[in-house]
Amino acid sequence: MSGSVGEKTQIIDGKEVAKSVRRALKDRIKGLAAAGVTPGLAAVLVGDDPASQTYVNSKARACEKLKLYSEVIRRPADISQDELLGIVNDLNANDQIHGILVQSPLPKHMDELSVTLAIDPAKDVDGFHPFNVGMMLIGRPGLLPCTPHGIVKLLEHYEIDPSGKQVVVVGRSNIVGKPIAAILVQKAPMANATVTIAHSRTANLAEVCRRADILIAAIGRPDTITEDMVREGAVVIDVGVNRVDDSSTEKGYRLVGDVDFDKVAPKCSAITPVPGGVGPMTIAMLMSNTVEAAARITGK
Ligand code: NAP
Repeated sequence: MSGSVGEKTQIIDGKEVAKSVRRALKDRIKGLAAAGVTPGLAAVLVGDDPASQTYVNSKARACEKLKLYSEVIRRPADISQDELLGIVNDLNANDQIHGILVQSPLPKHMDELSVTLAIDPAKDVDGFHPFNVGMMLIGRPGLLPCTPHGIVKLLEHYEIDPSGKQVVVVGRSNIVGKPIAAILVQKAPMANATVTIAHSRTANLAEVCRRADILIAAIGRPDTITEDMVREGAVVIDVGVNRVDDSSTEKGYRLVGDVDFDKVAPKCSAITPVPGGVGPMTIAMLMSNTVEAAARITGK
């Protein structure tokens, strides 16, 4: 992130908002501790994918910082699906654990949906179980998927009310695109938007995007959203996390979003940077779901 961001452009600071989510959680966690409850999160990691290891480690660290109980269960890539289902069933029955996540991607011989279906919906802190997906769709309380929930929190913090606005979501994945669209279309506070979902087969993508008061990019390709696709004064939420080669950095790469930030930002009223925008919110909302799940399961 660099360059000439217009003075009128608000940079949405995901790190700060995530901090404020964690601050609010601390009081809740203290209350639960007084009632003898320590929320517990179990992460199951199958195989040795480096990105998955990094994600799981940072989730465990986030638990530690908030004094939540956490377990990481590591298994080699060649364990059987039945073995994994056995682990999930044990965690379902474990009273110390209120949140279960099975880190994706799973090895090719496993069926992700069967594993998701095996998780007790009350402990499904990723919000991927079809029960929770259904509850989200009909606007009933359940566990919301972390990244879309984090986007709503960002908008709320910056008092960007989607009500009556044209929202265009680019991307239709089950973890970001579809759920954020489903949340923002609800007849509910911080929703009531008119939502369009675009994807790789959308005709005239630039024209569709230009209609957006709030443009949400969840694509996974750098620089897909260019200056000509964004209306003056729009709010842009960049969910993408992409590695691009950069020999000037120690690691040889840097992280960028899906939006050509330097060119697009000056046109926006507000925009999320990458890194430091949506990313920090995802883990914060995972912590929030774990605390919420513990409170609901224990009735405290
Ligand atoms: P995904 O499952 O690969 O979905 C990408 C979507 O983008 C698909 O719907 C695809 O269309 C669409 N698409 C691809 N190229 C396009 C193009 N040129 N024009 C319009 N649409 C296009 O990805 P995802 O899991 O939703 O993740 C998206 C990005 O968000 C990734 O970079 C991921 O790393 C990042 N992410 C970040 C967080 C976070 O915490 N910050 C969390 C989750 C994901 P089709 O359906 O037609 O193929």
